[in-house]
Formats: sequence, C-alpha cells, structure tokens
Amino acid sequence: MAGCAAAIAINRKGRGVTLIEREPIPRHKVCGEFLSGEALEDLRVLGIDVATLGAVPILYVRLAAARRAAEAALPFPAASLTRKTLDTALIAEAVAAGVRVERGRSVQALCRTATGMWQATLDDGAVCEAPTAFLATGKHDLRGYVRPKDPQRWVAFKMYYRLSPAQMAELYGASELMLYPGGYGGIQPVEGGIANLCWVVQQRYLARVEHRWDKFLAKMQQDCPHLAKRLAGAEPLLDKPIAITHIPYGHIRRTTEDGLYCIGDQAAVIPSFTGDGISIALHTARCASAAFLAGEPAPLYQARLRSALLPQMRLARLAADGLNNSPARAVLPFCLRVWPGVMRVTAKLTRVAAQRAAVIPHAVAG
Ligand SMILES: Cc1cc2nc3c(=O)[nH]c(=O)nc-3n(C[C@H](O)[C@H](O)[C@H](O)COP(=O)(O)OP(=O)(O)OC[C@H]3O[C@@H](n4cnc5c(N)ncnc54)[C@H](O)[C@@H]3O)c2cc1C
Repeated sequence: MAGCAAAIAINRKGRGVTLIEREPIPRHKVCGEFLSGEALEDLRVLGIDVATLGAVPILYVRLAAARRAAEAALPFPAASLTRKTLDTALIAEAVAAGVRVERGRSVQALCRTATGMWQATLDDGAVCEAPTAFLATGKHDLRGYVRPKDPQRWVAFKMYYRLSPAQMAELYGASELMLYPGGYGGIQPVEGGIANLCWVVQQRYLARVEHRWDKFLAKMQQDCPHLAKRLAGAEPLLDKPIAITHIPYGHIRRTTEDGLYCIGDQAAVIPSFTGDGISIALHTARCASAAFLAGEPAPLYQARLRSALLPQMRLARLAADGLNNSPARAVLPFCLRVWPGVMRVTAKLTRVAAQRAAVIPHAVAG
C-alpha cells in the first residue's frame, strides 16, 4: 500500500522507481478494510476512485459490548473495500504511471554499499541498487530493520461471511466495533454483498481455548451476543480465517539512515480499532515522497513524521488500553450511553493531522 503510493507519486514527478513486491498477485490481507476520509482523499489524488471499485459507504460506527450497542454518525466520509481489490487497483495504477513493478520477488536483505548506494538482495540472489530506498514491507520486518517485540502478543484474524439478508440489511452502512475479553473485533460490509469480520486477541486469551480460532470465535459470540446475532445463519466464505501475529501496536520509528525513508507500518503502527492504518500508510508515503523530491534528508523526514504522529498515536494507545483492561470495561455501560459524543471527539483526534507536507522493499527508487 504505502510502497505503491510512494512509487506512483515519485514516478509522476519523472523519477524512475522500481517497486519490489513479493506477492505475484494481490491476495487477501488481515485488515478491517475501513477507509477513513483522509485515506479516501489520498486515494483520489493517486487516481483511485473507490466508488467505481464497488466500495460501500460507511456512515455510522456502532459499539457493541456484552448485551448493549450504541451508534454514532461518522463525522467524516468513509467507505469499505477489500484490500485485494484496492491493492489490485493500486498496482495497476503504478504500472500505468510507468513504475517498474517486480512482482513475485522478495527482498531478503537491504544494506548500504561502500559507495553509499542502497542494495536490495532478492530471493533469487539478484541485487537491485539505488541511491534512495523506501522501506514499506508492512507487518513484515526485514533482517536488520526489526521493530520492537509486541509485549501483548496480539494475534489478528480476518474472515468473510455472507450474512443472512436481514443481518446484512442491518449492517449496511455501518462499521461495528465489538468488545470482548482479550481483544476487540469489527464487522462491516464490503463490496459484493458480503461482510468482513476482523478481530484481534492477545495470545494468552487464545491459549485459554487451546489456540483454536473456532473456539475463540464461539467464545466471542457468547461474550458479545451482538456478534452472535450478526453471524446467525451466516456462511463463511474462506476455508479458515487468515491470521497474523506479533503486531507492534504503538510503535513509531525514531530514526533512520541517510537515503532510507520508512513508510506505512514500518513508520508507525496504530491500534487497529481506529481504522486509520491505511490512511497513515498513504500519509507517510505522501510525506516521504515529498521529502525525497524536495531533497529533504531521510533522518529529518523520519523525525518530523514522528513528532507529527506522536499525539495521535498516544491517544490511540490510551484508548486501546482502556478497551482492553477490565476496570475500564466496568464503565462500558456508561461509555455506551455517551458513545456518540465520545466517538465524534476521539474519531477526530485519532485521525492523521491534516498536514500536507525513493529501493522500496516493497520498493527501489533510482
Ligand atoms: C487486525 C487489523 C485490522 C486493521 N484494520 C484496518 C482498517 O480497518 N482500516 C485501516 O485503515 N487500517 C487497518 N489496519 C492497518 C492497515 O492494514 C495497515 O496499517 C496498512 O496495510 C499498512 O500499509 P503498509 O503499506 O505499511 O503495509 P501493507 O499494505 O501490508 O504492504 C506491505 C507490502 O510489502 C510486501 N512485502 C513484505 N515483505 C516484503 C519483502 N521482503 N519483499 C518484497 N515485498 C514485501 C507485502 O507483500 C505487502 O504487499 C488493520 C491492521 C490490522 C492488523
């Protein structure tokens, strides 16, 4: 996502870029697939019209915990679109823009040569060199550029369902956030008349059900009857959920080396419930490509980005801790009563600051 966005922006300014993507074709990714207003705007500028791709408008957010649910209108436009569709469109846009896209090739190592070039070594041993590199490998760390461990040991899952017509009608236009012991989950409609259920759980809670996702899903429905209602009569559309582990929520990269711009989840990992990761990915891609084109050194860009994102990240972490700890859950009935007001304020505060400020494993720029 971030690598593709940066590659398009840089290539449009006439600078050659090579994008290295390890997947031969886009595939499903663990993601709630909520696109905030900022993400929609950045995508529009990149030439992606999500409406024509079938994106579903999201007008409300509902919070459900135990037996209660509350709803609030979103204070900004939002939509929902599968990552597979969105990533396919972004890659197509990059190719159309003239980016050299190397698909199905994975970067194994990235290092600086004695002559100051960035050198990416690919899985087949080939090397790709450029004076500037963008590190955009998302959740996957490259050797030598590892982010801190995730102490809570989060595990995230995603599954698509065809809901019953009545449940789909109730869900349409809403993104629903559900709380249960050990984590939270979200369900929302995506294109094609289906729903995305995405959930996160700390590993110690998963251990209580023998690390079985099916048992945890059953427990989630017990603890959150709202989810049980949504899934009654639903048809799962994947053999099993796709999953990822070790998500360093709250991480913001402190520093970088000359000529290496870190973007997307390699720059900052915001808690998933904010639905803001994609917009941060696009925002960091925009800021980094602007910095590169303006000749701003990468360490300066990284430090500036960190200061700009810190308040938003701190607030999101605070809210995530509140959602995940038991004393805070005791006041949930109160939270649900005041939810519309709280939601409007936190939704605004946890957005990317409205500031508008090139080898990329997922890409190489020359
Ligand atoms: C449970 C969960 C739910 C979420 N829900 C939402 C949501 O609803 N809305 C939202 O805005 N954000 C959400 N996010 C966050 C969002 O998915 C990420 O923040 C966003 O995808 C980050 O973009 P990125 O470009 O950094 O990484 P990605 O989009 O993951 O792109 C990284 C790319 O790099 C490639 N790659 C990796 N390693 C290599 C390598 N060695 N060589 C070559 N290529 C490589 C990958 O194949 C991939 O295509 C969620 C995250 C989680 C975990």
